[in-house]
Amino acid sequence: MSSLALFVEVILPLPLAGTFTYRVPRNIEDEVAIGKRVVVQFGRKKLYTGIIADRHDKPPTSYQAKYLEELLDDEPVVFGHQLAFWNWIREYYLCHLGDAMQAALPSGLKLSSESRLAIHPDYTGEMEELEEEELDILEALQNNTFLTLDEIGKLVRKTHVHAIIRSLVEKQIVVQYEELQQKFKPKTEIIYRLADWLEDKSKMAEVFDALSRAPKQLEALMQFIQSSKTGKDIYTEHGRSKGVVKRQVLISDNGISAAAVDQLVKKEILVKSELEVSRLIDTDAWATEDIVLTLEQQKVFDELNELFTTKGAALLHGVTSSGKTEIYIQLIQEHTSQGGQVLYMLPEIALTAHIIQRLQKHFGDKVGIYHSKMSDNERVEVWKKQLSQEPYDVVLGARSSLFLPFKKLGLIILDEEHEHTFKQHDPAPRYHARDAAAYLCKQHEAKLLLGSATPSIEAYFNGKKGRIGLVHLTERYGGVQLPHIEISDLRLERKAESMKGPFSSQLLQRINETLQRRQQVIIFQNRRGYSSFVQCNGCGWVPDCVSCDISLTYHKYSNDLRCHYCGHADKVPHVCPNCQSTYLKTKGFGTEQVEEELALHFPSAVVARMDMDTTRGKHAYTRIISDFEEKRIDILVGTQMVTKGLDFDHVGLVGILNADALLNYPDFRSFERAYQLMAQVSGRAGRKGRRGLVVIQTSEPTHFIVEQVVRNDYQGMYESELVQRKQFRYPPFIRMITITIKHRDREKVDAAADALAKALDPIPDKLLLGPEYPLVQRIRNKYNKQIILKMGGANIKERKAQIFKIIQEVNADKDFRSVYFQPDVDPI
Ligand code: ADP
Ligand code: ZN
Ligand code: ZN
Repeated sequence: MSSLALFVEVILPLPLAGTFTYRVPRNIEDEVAIGKRVVVQFGRKKLYTGIIADRHDKPPTSYQAKYLEELLDDEPVVFGHQLAFWNWIREYYLCHLGDAMQAALPSGLKLSSESRLAIHPDYTGEMEELEEEELDILEALQNNTFLTLDEIGKLVRKTHVHAIIRSLVEKQIVVQYEELQQKFKPKTEIIYRLADWLEDKSKMAEVFDALSRAPKQLEALMQFIQSSKTGKDIYTEHGRSKGVVKRQVLISDNGISAAAVDQLVKKEILVKSELEVSRLIDTDAWATEDIVLTLEQQKVFDELNELFTTKGAALLHGVTSSGKTEIYIQLIQEHTSQGGQVLYMLPEIALTAHIIQRLQKHFGDKVGIYHSKMSDNERVEVWKKQLSQEPYDVVLGARSSLFLPFKKLGLIILDEEHEHTFKQHDPAPRYHARDAAAYLCKQHEAKLLLGSATPSIEAYFNGKKGRIGLVHLTERYGGVQLPHIEISDLRLERKAESMKGPFSSQLLQRINETLQRRQQVIIFQNRRGYSSFVQCNGCGWVPDCVSCDISLTYHKYSNDLRCHYCGHADKVPHVCPNCQSTYLKTKGFGTEQVEEELALHFPSAVVARMDMDTTRGKHAYTRIISDFEEKRIDILVGTQMVTKGLDFDHVGLVGILNADALLNYPDFRSFERAYQLMAQVSGRAGRKGRRGLVVIQTSEPTHFIVEQVVRNDYQGMYESELVQRKQFRYPPFIRMITITIKHRDREKVDAAADALAKALDPIPDKLLLGPEYPLVQRIRNKYNKQIILKMGGANIKERKAQIFKIIQEVNADKDFRSVYFQPDVDPI
């Protein structure tokens, strides 16, 4: 044993620069290793779980190192190469190592003194195998809903409870409180319906009679019957359902006594059930299936393999339904049979029960799934499985799956590569999965495949330049034609006064025809809520959010006004506070209103809606999608959620309600984005058999983007975009970094932004724009101003490092310590 003291560098889950040095107690020197978790004290009293990044024998020079409190792991939970990846994230995205660690680790792996713990709801109370200390902790928890790690320590008078807690978590006696809420109390809605035996009218009369002695219950039943006639927004197994009422509506909204309702259930008058239905994957369906690639697909497959050898990475530009997924499956087969692991990334994994099924058909239990809608326990399980001797060969994951431990990564497939959800916005690290995946592939000497029907300009540019391979699939599988696209000219319709609310007569007619043919319809409207805003007809007053500089959106179902930036909700005013007028009107159509109007126009059709509001629960997406798939829904209205890689067989028509809003969005990417959204949602029309139809409503029918969508002319869009990007100096010709400066106090924001702009002056070869207030100046009570840096040329890495250093320095100024400076590299 060496006589020198041993120290470790620890990464802490804090937005602070660098790692922190701790001294290792002699007795655990041999066990200390890179990638293991430790508990350390930081600051006055706080305990954190950190990761060992290094071990050495150099004591820190400027302070006395504290001892480690505890070593948590027998084996590392993070591989050394993952630490290198975190470091790359830190450097590239101008953040701290702690930020990268926070993004990487599922929270179950990073208990801190503030982590809340509770007793596992399935814990049966068996105590035989518990140690004295464990019993103490259990007792402390039994008397409380939850306790923080700190509080538990105090209650049982021990400083070191991490290891015991961890063992209790592993034995499934204790859970993280957040986990408890997430997993064990999912946000399900309780619903009631009338018991079947009451369909007999005479029985119903008897019930009324019997209840005359229980007025509260009678009232509850009457109210139930009243509310059940509408059944709005309730989706059951069989689509939107009348005869069903949510508990919340019955009790909270109508002031009915909960006890009375419970009595009705007890008397078997009402039947209570939960709305969340999990449709887990049918494992019985596993069976290997042989796909025979078509000639075009086979050619692409061979080209890809060739390009992997020469360039390591490629972009597969294939129209919707051309069989990209089948090619992925073949590639996965090839890589896994050679012993490599494959990461298959999708932007919105919750939407992709399909793909999961297709993969499981081929790879059975060798497929793991990893995304943010999973509970934390489930994520920790996948993480640990990847560390084990028998990791998943294939992981299907969202953005964060890049951070999983891989032993032998051979291939990353990033499908729907153009999707913006691949970029993390908040908090730091603001990383893009595409670029991070490119780094990971280099690091692992793995191959990278990007796929899309509408590639990002950046990826296509790289393909054209030959930096990565580029291959095309131009035909849909089975000779299915791309949809026919019709333009509905809103100017003409308005002149002819033939608009019916948000719909042109043309679109209504097409919907009608489609329903007649017993085909389904998708309507895309990129705005949720009922109306964009409410306005006083007298004086023009519009209610704004108290914390943000933005008008509130009216939500009819919840009957409130909500801020789409901060979630704040207000009551709907009946009188204008400005002029006392009672005439308040709604302006602009949201998905809620579109849904409502469709139901009026097509009373015999089942209309459903898919947007953030209807898909909050864990299984809500899956439910709507399978209902649509199994034709229990005729018309599906939705935001951009309906544009994403969904395969439906019976969609005859796709309607795009407002192309103008997409085209006029003030952003340099708006045309690219408008094209992508319109082309993607169009791709949902007409898969098997009949050719699909798309109707685009616009007042700019000759807009070149609209024409490109009609012609399915991605290439044309790419070229016209590129001209613009070059002329106005935007990516891919230059790199952008935006720095957002935030504070409650407007003057402070102004001063800090000016100071930063000035301090950035010495950075060479850059164009600095701003500081400027963006469209929405204040969000969540904080003003935010932006500086945009455009940079080209070489040694960008050094200049970025310099920029981050300058930001830190300005932030350290005593005037600006409370100001937030948020750099966003390659913003989208
Ligand atoms: P994409 O991923 O490009 O949208 P998919 O891979 O989902 O396309 O293919 C569309 C449909 O065509 C799927 O139902 C798929 O199973 C089917 N398909 C594609 N290629 C083949 C093939 N070679 N053999 C059998 N079915 C195929
Ligand atoms: Zn008014
Ligand atoms: Zn707000």
